[in-house]
Amino acid sequence: HDPLAAIDPEIAEAVAAELRRQQSTLEMIASENFAPVSVLEAQGSVLTNKYAEGYPGRRYYGGCEYVDVAEQLAIDRAKALFGAEHANVQPHSGAQANTAVYFALLQHGDTILGLDLAHGGHLTHGMRLNYSGKTLNVVPYHVRAEDGLVDMDEVATLAAEHRPKMIVAGWSAYPRQLDFAAFRTVADSVGALLMVDMAHFAGLVAAGLHPSPVPYADVVTTTTHKTLGGPRGGLILAREEYGKKINSAVFPGMQGGPLEHVIAAKAVALKVAASQEFRERQERTVEGARLLADRLLAEDSAKAGVKVLTGGTDVHLVLVDLVDSELTGRDAEDRLHGIGITVNRNAVPGDPRPPMVTSGLRIGTPALATRGFTSEDFAEVADIIALALQPSYDRDALAARAKDLADKHPLYPDL
Ligand code: PLP
Repeated sequence: HDPLAAIDPEIAEAVAAELRRQQSTLEMIASENFAPVSVLEAQGSVLTNKYAEGYPGRRYYGGCEYVDVAEQLAIDRAKALFGAEHANVQPHSGAQANTAVYFALLQHGDTILGLDLAHGGHLTHGMRLNYSGKTLNVVPYHVRAEDGLVDMDEVATLAAEHRPKMIVAGWSAYPRQLDFAAFRTVADSVGALLMVDMAHFAGLVAAGLHPSPVPYADVVTTTTHKTLGGPRGGLILAREEYGKKINSAVFPGMQGGPLEHVIAAKAVALKVAASQEFRERQERTVEGARLLADRLLAEDSAKAGVKVLTGGTDVHLVLVDLVDSELTGRDAEDRLHGIGITVNRNAVPGDPRPPMVTSGLRIGTPALATRGFTSEDFAEVADIIALALQPSYDRDALAARAKDLADKHPLYPDL
């Protein structure tokens, strides 16, 4: 007897179908992952019933003694994992975490520098229609045309010219590590705050495979569901001096009752992220992306006009440049979807094609690494992708090879 299926068969079927989709396809959207069953269990728990406005030990509701335990564990684990002085685990999402930081530390009309959305930045780093773009004076910085790397000379020049109150470093589509020390130097040169949004690479930082922004930044934000592999949500780390302002901006500033079931799941994910198993998984994640980049740099891909932005990757994703290919980003996304591989099309800097079409793909390895993919499996999926991006391809043969990989690594076998 399944209570959900009994009460709401339509929703139960949508959930079951989504589980089958996740199990039967190869998930390579760089911002996605598979939360462990322990995280799903915490997130689907009775903690969802509890109102707990405030913070552990200082709530506006009675009966918070157990959610206090869970939230305090999440806070302590976040601080320990990343070596941070202060942690707020309540933001409902990454976007809310970023907006809360702006609300805490900036005034309407203040100037920020952020990486241009079209060059790999996130909506909340100042996109015109986002709350950040509507309320702040946003000066975008860019990647260099010649090598695709963030142009720190431009960041320094723009900072000197516009005297921003805050510099935002971080990205949604960028395959390299940022130079946090250089960002700090620029910020100090104009008295700006430095916020690093490590949403994409937080898992790599936790595993020690990517430099940590925490020693350099005043505030670090992240999502908890990407490389970090936890429940969908946000997290703010900060220097102690900003802790009170940030807490007040999250609650009562932007949110009411915290999602204590999600916070408990964040605590579980942060515990997992401190483990040796997690580190080993992040190593496979990075290695998988490197193998994919290497395969897409081979001669047959080059001949088909397939290029890899920046010539490789240091992280969990590869950006494919299809400007010289007869395939658009949308064609390539559709082709891969047709053989059971899920990716997202992505504009490349200076993209000549319209935003709904684009000339690029963003392909990530975190979800497959969580599924247990080895180097050998990643080499196979890289070969499948490279062949699918050729002018002509054998759809059925590649679909069969992708299915073999999915079958080899069962996902959520007990669900
Ligand atoms: N920051 C970065 C760098 C992101 O890539 C994302 C999500 O893609 C976010 C913030 C926003 O996270 P959410 O979708 O949870 O609001």
